[in-house]
Amino acid sequence: MIATLSGGTGTPKLLWGLKEICDDFFVVVNTAEDVWVSGNKICPDIDSVIYALSETIDTEKWWGVRNDSFITYERLKFLGFDEGMMIGDVDRATHILRSNLLREGKNLLEATRILKSRFGIKQEIFPMCNEEVSTLIETESGTMHFQEFWVGRRGEPEVNNIIFKGIENAKIPSEVKEFLEECKAVIIGPSNPITSIGPIISVRGYKEILKKKKVIAVSPIIGKNPVSGPAGKFMRALGYEVSPVGVAKVYRDFIDVLVIDEKDSDYELDFVEVVKADTIMKKKEDAENLSRFLLELVG
Ligand code: GDP
Repeated sequence: MIATLSGGTGTPKLLWGLKEICDDFFVVVNTAEDVWVSGNKICPDIDSVIYALSETIDTEKWWGVRNDSFITYERLKFLGFDEGMMIGDVDRATHILRSNLLREGKNLLEATRILKSRFGIKQEIFPMCNEEVSTLIETESGTMHFQEFWVGRRGEPEVNNIIFKGIENAKIPSEVKEFLEECKAVIIGPSNPITSIGPIISVRGYKEILKKKKVIAVSPIIGKNPVSGPAGKFMRALGYEVSPVGVAKVYRDFIDVLVIDEKDSDYELDFVEVVKADTIMKKKEDAENLSRFLLELVG
């Protein structure tokens, strides 16, 4: 069995291909970007993983459900309430069911298990923890939730620091601990190392297990830029160079192999093996090829 650690864009793309060639994996997902909107809990990264593994994801935007409508969102706006993020009608059903399960007393892991089963997904999808953790971005315009920074302000303010509020109370769920301890290797997909993988490895209990495992990470940075999203800005804010080397340094405590893009420069590092592959995933075939390469590295 293989463990994968995921955010909401790069790694779901990889999982979309991995599922075509391998059944035996599970996913541990960042939950520090979760928010409550209109009474429902939105877990953007869990939702993207569920939609990618169930073939319902919008593969143009890489969030939300393909061909979704926005009638409720638009109606609320007409009535004078802007939800602040575009929530599709079909997507909203996922949030409603999750929130009802939570209100009935289930924890997030149990609620996610029920949800992913209803989507017919075989693999386990685990939240990184059951406790609430929120990524707050300290900027020149004040401190704001990740969603406000990225969706509300389009990632524009200068970033000074990043905080995971509530992380000190978060712990690895016992189910995730068992799976991780049993797995053959851990694949960290091309995800934002600071705000997607950063929260997972900051939760009490993860790093100790990762240190004992073969950990293979795919760089979300090619050359000096991320493929998409704010990873570069966040890495710079925390003092990491924006390059595959910076990514390797974020994972320094436990990484064994870093996969960088074939178009990238050659790097030699003393704490990690660096290998090259085509890491750009535009079609499912690209994701399958990269997955095959990663499975060969696992051995
Ligand atoms: P988020 O939760 O939406 O931030 O999503 P993730 O953290 O899972 O993924 C975002 C990261 O994935 C960004 O830093 C991108 O640079 C990277 N990324 C997205 N698509 C690709 C791709 O096709 N190849 C590679 N190598 N990186 C990608």
